[in-house]
Amino acid sequence: MQKKISISQIKSAVHEAYDLYKTNDTGKNADYIPYLANVDKGLFGISICLLNGEIIECGDSAYKFGIESVSKVHTAILILRQYGAQELLKKIGADATGLPFNSIFAILLENDHPSTPLVNAGAITACSMVKPIADSDGKWKAIVDNITELCGSAPQLIDELYKSESDTNFNNRSIAWLLKNYNRIYDDPDISLDLYTRQCSLGITANQLAICGATIANKGLNPVTRQQVFDAGFSPKITSLIATVGFYEHTGDWLYTSGIPAKTGVGGGVMGTFPGLFGIAAFAPPIDNAGNSVKAQLAIKHIVNKLGLSVFSGDQVTITE
Ligand code: GLU
Repeated sequence: MQKKISISQIKSAVHEAYDLYKTNDTGKNADYIPYLANVDKGLFGISICLLNGEIIECGDSAYKFGIESVSKVHTAILILRQYGAQELLKKIGADATGLPFNSIFAILLENDHPSTPLVNAGAITACSMVKPIADSDGKWKAIVDNITELCGSAPQLIDELYKSESDTNFNNRSIAWLLKNYNRIYDDPDISLDLYTRQCSLGITANQLAICGATIANKGLNPVTRQQVFDAGFSPKITSLIATVGFYEHTGDWLYTSGIPAKTGVGGGVMGTFPGLFGIAAFAPPIDNAGNSVKAQLAIKHIVNKLGLSVFSGDQVTITE
């Protein structure tokens, strides 16, 4: 079916979602990372980036929050850029675990395999693969430059979050060394873990994530800077990874009810990508028991449903003025 939606319909869906959920106080800030426990739980922002570069935003869309696991998407794209789609599949994998994001059990069940770059194990492996190998500063620069290109502007390290996370990441240390035991760390395990922890501690805004989602939706062409950040052929690859495991063990429920592939982080951010149409991001710190922002989920779901969209509908959608 051919379908048309107007920019004013999108604007009113965004504002409606904001008004509907602004006062919702379900969920709880992540407290296993002390910094995150203390972020103002009332913050709430929504942003959409259209493929012409126009941004539609509401609330705290320019607030810098901890990107956390949304950064797994960026670094997976970096691995695609540096190694190609086949090597990512071979060295990391593309399977959902169906288990929590930081599961050690999942590594054992996957027969030594990290399974996907969008859970902690695969993300630490991805950091180990980032080139230049054995050059911690060079790797960090590659990670930050890649995020900058995808988001159209630079992220900023939140020092306090980095310290907080480094002081308490015992589970992730176990994951790094277990992966090392299975020959799934392709550089020094401590450097790989530190890079992963540091990338999770980057401050980012909903606007920046919406631009990244739009870059993915736009076959690698950043609609704001007009830079071709990655090969068009990587868009379906990264979108399939996001669709498969973006909400960890709640991914099926999410896709079924929202119709849009999206990736979450325990900092309260969610980044969605609607191929050929737009990127969307929402941010609100309180999360559910799977680590996904309650209000960001409600808002994105409301907007996509209100516009009558689903990536599975087969509709050919155009956005009009
Ligand atoms: N840095 C967090 C961790 O490794 C990220 C988790 C998440 O956002 O899902 O525990």
